[in-house]
Amino acid sequence: MAQFDLIDDTEETGQGGTVDVLIPLGLDQAYSYAVPAGLVLKPGDVVQVPLGPRETVGVVWDVGSGRGGNLKKVSGKYDMPPLDPALRKLVDWVAWYTLAPKGSVLALALRRQPDDTPERPKLGVRLAGPPPGRMTPARARAIAAAEGGLLIAKSALAEAASVSAAVIDSLVDAGTFVVEPLPREAIAARPDPDHAVPELSEGQGEVAQALVASVQAKAFSVSLLEGVTGSGKTEVYFEAVAEAIRQGRQSLILMPEIALTAQFIDRFEARFGVKPGLWHSAVSGRRRERLQAAIASGEAKVVAGARSALFLPYSDLGLIVVDEEHESAYKQEDGVSYHARDMAVVRGRIENAPIVLASATPSLETRVNAERGRYAHLKLPERFGGRELPELGLVDLRRDKPERGRWLSGALIKAVEANLEAKEQSLLFLNRRGYAPLTLCRDCGHRFQCPNCTAWLVDHRFRRALVCHHCGHVERRPYECPACHQPESLIACGPGVERLAEEVATLFPQARSIVLSSDFPGGTERLKQELMAVAEGEFDIVIGTQLVAKGHNFPGMTLVGVIDADLGLTSGDPRAAERTFQALRQVTGRAGRGEKPGRALLQTHDPEHPVLKALISGDPERFYAAEEASREAAGLPPFGRLAALIVSANSQAEAESHARALARSAEAGDGIMVLGPAEAPLAVLRGRHRMRLIVKTAREINLQDYLRGWLKRAPRPKGSVRVAVDVDPQSF
Ligand code: ADP
Ligand code: ZN
Repeated sequence: MAQFDLIDDTEETGQGGTVDVLIPLGLDQAYSYAVPAGLVLKPGDVVQVPLGPRETVGVVWDVGSGRGGNLKKVSGKYDMPPLDPALRKLVDWVAWYTLAPKGSVLALALRRQPDDTPERPKLGVRLAGPPPGRMTPARARAIAAAEGGLLIAKSALAEAASVSAAVIDSLVDAGTFVVEPLPREAIAARPDPDHAVPELSEGQGEVAQALVASVQAKAFSVSLLEGVTGSGKTEVYFEAVAEAIRQGRQSLILMPEIALTAQFIDRFEARFGVKPGLWHSAVSGRRRERLQAAIASGEAKVVAGARSALFLPYSDLGLIVVDEEHESAYKQEDGVSYHARDMAVVRGRIENAPIVLASATPSLETRVNAERGRYAHLKLPERFGGRELPELGLVDLRRDKPERGRWLSGALIKAVEANLEAKEQSLLFLNRRGYAPLTLCRDCGHRFQCPNCTAWLVDHRFRRALVCHHCGHVERRPYECPACHQPESLIACGPGVERLAEEVATLFPQARSIVLSSDFPGGTERLKQELMAVAEGEFDIVIGTQLVAKGHNFPGMTLVGVIDADLGLTSGDPRAAERTFQALRQVTGRAGRGEKPGRALLQTHDPEHPVLKALISGDPERFYAAEEASREAAGLPPFGRLAALIVSANSQAEAESHARALARSAEAGDGIMVLGPAEAPLAVLRGRHRMRLIVKTAREINLQDYLRGWLKRAPRPKGSVRVAVDVDPQSF
């Protein structure tokens, strides 16, 4: 990444003078304001300024010496800590790199004004009085669950006893339970680096030592921690976190949102005695504010968070870990489109802190950086405790054909049966939510399409609805075909996990099975509980999407069946091979993590496919070498640079004509190629028509400068037209 210099931070306004204020809206520029007499401002101060007819919040980005003759005046300064220099640098950098308006990036980093109204304590109940006059089974369960007289949150008790809140309320009315305020939960208890130190294997110990040394160096460095599933990557990077805690410094553990599970938190707590500070989209309101304050004061030592945790105001960051660094969930696609892994490296450089990128299947970008010596390459090639990696086998679906309307081959059915007999768990992996990806009329061929997107509606039987997975559009599945009015003529095409569950129920009626996908009924809390239940062996067969493919440890799982290993390989996307390789390695890695060895069967129509062959050979080096060679030959990242410009509008004509005009205004140059316009992969999304231009340049070219120059010359978008820039697009 290119060099980028920053504003000097030491200046302060004297009396009078001017300041440039950045406003957290979609504006690229800071605006100049006059500083009223008596107010002294420095960069980072949070101020209120007039903007058009209203007042708005902003951050002083620069102080000028000019005289603010006819400028509007700053209205006032908020009594809150200034945005520190490291965060301002990060905002500048992210805006420069992604071409997003600087104000939009600021919005990611700006703390909300703390709410001063006193916090109402949450209430809990305690068993303190006589039994109620009338006992019911539900009441008895609630009382049994509250045995011992501990104070417990009402919702937690309801859940533990599987009763409704009303049952507990009735026991309060009866005087059996008393209501008392719950103690305020500590937001940032201090982790103890020596709470439960694991005994590391020799290989783990060496890698941990290298990571600990990188923390001790207090300098910017990047280490790739590449370890097979079950090798103990978490255990090992926890040692680096422990070292940062010993030094009194802060650590950030970035994870894909989905991996922030109860399991991870329990492991953290087992190692350090307390929970980490948790930051993700479901953490809201007060907790968010309190955690932000604890991070800014340095009180919170470890934060485990999703990508937006990158923009928190750490006061003394000593380590950043990016777990599952290859995950595409790290790329934010809406608004500011940044890749959290790359920006973590930027933040590490700004903070002069070490970065650990952990993965069983690193991204090609990271691998290349490690191979070229830009990153340290630390490897854990073996599973912990002498456990073997699962044995992998292919099932050729052309020979071993499932019955019509069924998806499990004879070989896979046999394997599941054997597992049931041995009382071991099986995972059937299919990365398709819902019942069927397509619904059509058997008489007239009518297909159900989303009215807002170029996408088929997915049949969700459990919810009795047809759903668009892109915009969320929902409609009822009708009784008759809307086109030819033939009753009962609609048929489901292809499998989703719900349909697979039907097949499993028919084939193995005695098995305890569960479907786990991100639209699990009952929301994330229920889902977390079910994941724990699976880990505890309460289910025999798990039917799951990518949700269960990674990050979880299911000790009793000894068989993984991949229903469709070809899914994803057939798309035209040049990253398809890498993605599929990663996904299949991750999911097959779920097998055999406990005492017993595991195996995986992958169903395919194309057993000769190079990705599958590389996977079966168990030799990732072979895959990476081939993939690198083909990317290099095509000049694709990381060997070249890539950006996408998405032109969207309310009508196809507008989008197309602007995309054409944009293409005409592009400047040719050595090592620069502009491709398109062509329809974007989702040609219509949420009712917006989308065209796409791709810019491909040689590595030496400053892509950002080129794009800026071009967009400055290009015709302004008019009417409903918008242009969005996506640097390093994940699919192209
Ligand atoms: P990875 O993240 O590489 O998949 P984990 O860190 O989840 O691996 O480790 C896999 C399993 O092995 C976990 O249950 C973990 O607790 C256990 N484990 C790994 N290393 C050790 C160790 N040194 N001592 C005890 N248990 C370990
Ligand atoms: Zn849609």
